[in-house]
Amino acid sequence: MAGKPRSGCEALRVVARCRPMSRREEAAGYERVLELDVKLGQVSIRNPRAAPGEMPKTFTFDAVYDASSKQTDLYDETVRPLIDSVLQGFNGTIFAYGQTGTGKTYTMQGAWGDPEKRGIIPISFEHIFTHISRSQNQQYLVRASYLEIYQEEIRDLLAKDQNKKLELKENPETGVYIKDLSSFVTKNVKEIEHVMNLGSQTRSVGSTNMNEHSSRSHAIFLITIECSETGPDGEEHIRVGKLNLVDLAGSERQSKMGTHGERPKEASKINLSLSALGNVISALVDGKSTHIPYRDSKLTRLLQDSLGGNAKTIMVATLGPASHSYDESLSTLRFANRAKNIKNKPRVNEDPKDTLLREFQEEIVRLKAQLEKRGMLGKKRRRSSRRKKTVDGESATENEGEDDNEDGLEKNMENYLKEQKERLEEEKAAIQDDHSLVSEEKQKLLQEKEKMIEDLRKEQEATELLATKYKAMESKLLIGGRTIVDHTNEQQKMLELKRQEIAEQKRREREMQQEMLLRDEETMELRETYTSLQQEVEIKTKKLKKLYAKLQAVKAEIQDQHDEYIRVRQDLEEAQNEQTRELKLKYLIIENFIPPEEKNKIMNRLYFDGDEDQWKFQPLVPTGGNSSQMKRRPTSAVGYKRPISQFARVAMAMGSHPRY
Ligand code: ADP
Ligand code: MG
Repeated sequence: MAGKPRSGCEALRVVARCRPMSRREEAAGYERVLELDVKLGQVSIRNPRAAPGEMPKTFTFDAVYDASSKQTDLYDETVRPLIDSVLQGFNGTIFAYGQTGTGKTYTMQGAWGDPEKRGIIPISFEHIFTHISRSQNQQYLVRASYLEIYQEEIRDLLAKDQNKKLELKENPETGVYIKDLSSFVTKNVKEIEHVMNLGSQTRSVGSTNMNEHSSRSHAIFLITIECSETGPDGEEHIRVGKLNLVDLAGSERQSKMGTHGERPKEASKINLSLSALGNVISALVDGKSTHIPYRDSKLTRLLQDSLGGNAKTIMVATLGPASHSYDESLSTLRFANRAKNIKNKPRVNEDPKDTLLREFQEEIVRLKAQLEKRGMLGKKRRRSSRRKKTVDGESATENEGEDDNEDGLEKNMENYLKEQKERLEEEKAAIQDDHSLVSEEKQKLLQEKEKMIEDLRKEQEATELLATKYKAMESKLLIGGRTIVDHTNEQQKMLELKRQEIAEQKRREREMQQEMLLRDEETMELRETYTSLQQEVEIKTKKLKKLYAKLQAVKAEIQDQHDEYIRVRQDLEEAQNEQTRELKLKYLIIENFIPPEEKNKIMNRLYFDGDEDQWKFQPLVPTGGNSSQMKRRPTSAVGYKRPISQFARVAMAMGSHPRY
């Protein structure tokens, strides 16, 4: 770890992955339009409707994975370094972006049962816990959350109450977070897998058609890894790495998905997060934009750090090889190509406030102190009782050497309590047998003893509870070789290392090749000296041809972009027309069927809550208990007054549900 930079500027890593032709595509006889050059990291896409002579378009990425690529190829080469960074305290994000059916879920999750087909998320579980089990002098705490963004609403996939919609909040220190999102502390691969399966089940239960649902929602699996270690300064430091594993909604143009009934409204909302993602990326790479529209959607707000901020980010663009998805594939490639230019500023998150690990450590110390106090009490009393016994002529049988560890402590405690109980029972029996006592007195003494026994029992229970809590908390703090043990043998370790080395080498080779290609073009001019005029003409003609082809490609690209722009504009116009039509209808209803004074009353009570992006009603009578809520409301509600009627109509027309 030493010597590695702890912060710096680095570009988003973008890789492309093409799935094999599906059986359906093969049966339908679609031709292949994608070619991948794995060595160079390039994807070429050929327009099936191209005019003769039209060149395929070529895109270069950090790496490309063809149909024969294995899940571990992608992981070892591209993902592993990022997870290693997260384990060191960096934030990391992996996005899968692409059209529905191109392999986003396959890449992120994969086929669960087949070890060969397990995706990034399950492999990362193994990676994380193996790393921890091999660590030395470090304490780790790992926890996981799972959420989904559907129709711009955040759903906690691990919560009991699935109807609760979560809110995004902002903390000036830690940034944007989700209020009340549940997270589970996990001690090993099995536990975190369980968390993931739980969330996946919830996800599919909530939807009638899982395919459709997953193509419209964004799923985010979040792993937080906290690590504490004593630094060179002798102080203990905590580093926190957050890992976002994101399976995005399908990137296909929504118009393809049918436009009847409820669809357009729903579709346009999903579009919002994805198009906001596109806009954020454009603004980031534009260089001129001073405003990055993170706030335009839940997804971009939540992943603000991953795009141009404090995180290392990978985007996996997934593609289908067949001709029928040419348009979508090209659009995915362009999207990914733009994302390459995003620069992030990742840094190790050291000693942030409010880490759960610190909380755990403090709680453990507190519990331990409490247990010790009880244990100490026990020891003192035992000694006195032992002395008494010795005086009585009995031999002391307890072991003298007392354990300092918790197990010993607990045993001491147990023995002491047992002993005390026996003694009390004995005394009780003695009282019972004592015929010299008046029955009233006897009763009183017996009751006293009963109470003492009861108190003892309660104390025992409380101690047991404390001990259980202490043990549970301590077991969650993972210490390599102690609470979590590495089960891989030497041979497996060697294999792992070799695989990583090969992956690293492949990556370096590709980077060098890409660089050489770039330099080749730049230095062509300098290297050339001509022996004759004839040769100079020949070489320059060749170069001219090359440049001419490049010019044509750029021209075609501009034309494409222009066409795309027009299509998007038409789409937006269409959506606008539809909304205007609906607006007119609602307006007609309001004007003709709602009495004007009722309408005015409603309008005056409405205000817009920017945080929740909702129109809301002011309560008729402000209640005392709600005073804090009242304070948060814009006092300038009057300032909203004029536009309110207009906005309110729009809101009603668009089907917002103001909350009462
Ligand atoms: P998405 O999540 O993008 O909608 P899926 O991950 O569900 O797409 O993939 C669609 C289908 O293609 C699935 O049956 C999946 O198993 C298969 N598939 C996707 N990528 C690959 C790949 N790289 N190799 C083999 N099969 C793949
Ligand atoms: Mg999917």
